[in-house]
Amino acid sequence: MLPLADAYGRVATDLRVSLTDRCNLRCSYCMPAEGLDWLPDDQTLTDDEVVRLVTIGVRRLGVQEVRFTGGEPLVRRGLVDIVRRTHDLGVETSLTTNALGLQRNAQALRDAGLDRINVSLDSVRRETFHEVTRRDRLDDVIAGLEAARAAGLGPLKLNAVLLRGLNDDQAPELLAWAIERGYDLRFIEQMPLDAQHGWSRAEMITADEIYAALSAEFELTPHGEPRGSAPAELFDVDGGPATVGIIASVTRPFCGDCDRVRLTADGQVRNCLFARDESDLRTAMRAGATDEELADRWVVAMAGKLPGHGINDPSFLQPDRPMSAIGG
Ligand code: SAM
Ligand code: SF4
Repeated sequence: MLPLADAYGRVATDLRVSLTDRCNLRCSYCMPAEGLDWLPDDQTLTDDEVVRLVTIGVRRLGVQEVRFTGGEPLVRRGLVDIVRRTHDLGVETSLTTNALGLQRNAQALRDAGLDRINVSLDSVRRETFHEVTRRDRLDDVIAGLEAARAAGLGPLKLNAVLLRGLNDDQAPELLAWAIERGYDLRFIEQMPLDAQHGWSRAEMITADEIYAALSAEFELTPHGEPRGSAPAELFDVDGGPATVGIIASVTRPFCGDCDRVRLTADGQVRNCLFARDESDLRTAMRAGATDEELADRWVVAMAGKLPGHGINDPSFLQPDRPMSAIGG
């Protein structure tokens, strides 16, 4: 087994696989209203190619956990089969999704061996949800969440991004809603990964602001356990057992503990969300590279991982690919 190690002592074991860059929402912090120029089909990995690369990651490179994401992974037709074949490799599988269509697929995904699911939900007010995502689909998300729970896909995690002037007044309301239903909520600081380059350091809602907004209505106490490579700072809410997470990706980066590696829908290895270089496994694979050769390329790609994302450096440059094409 070759570990996916870098020069700073980190070893990647958590593989994020983007299954498509397409999406049925248009969250304003992620993509423009008109969408993007989607990857052409011939550049997108086939189901067999995805499974082959995931298998190399697991069998040769020490990957222990595989999370499928996108774009929106539920729009990928082969998702259930890909999950089943990944589960059969004996690793934990999970999904990050906006939950549109989850109502139809939750049981099939559970039966295929999916272990966990994270759902993105930024508001439980219909108008605000519509404004943030540019689609009036809150009811579908809620139905998807309920279907996931009924299928045994718990504990369900919710991810929320707060945007100034849009939903930044709704953090306590979202937390109360999640606690009432037994969902674990985490707030994520908005990062400079939107396709339209609209992020601004001055405008983003910081982890400290999120903490202050929640503290106005709940008593938050540190959850005790050290966070390890998990990005969320966890707090007990009103003495527990409910908790809330705050992910301070920008203001308190956790790059030193990062154990992630990413594979894009077109077969590029990225050693960081913010990497400016990629390693093209698709072209090598289609040119006939063996599993061993692909594994070697992957190891080299990881060895060059930088110590941190550098968002706070004056010289920071946003990656060319937006979040939806990298896989969040
Ligand atoms: N479509 C799926 C979803 O929304 O869950 C999966 C892909 S999405 C890119 C993955 C996660 O990235 C979501 O939780 C979303 O809120 C988050 N995200 C997207 N753009 C972001 C940004 N600029 N800053 C922080 N998080 C972002
Ligand atoms: Fe789609 Fe997820 Fe991006 Fe929203 S955050 S537009 S749901 S990919």
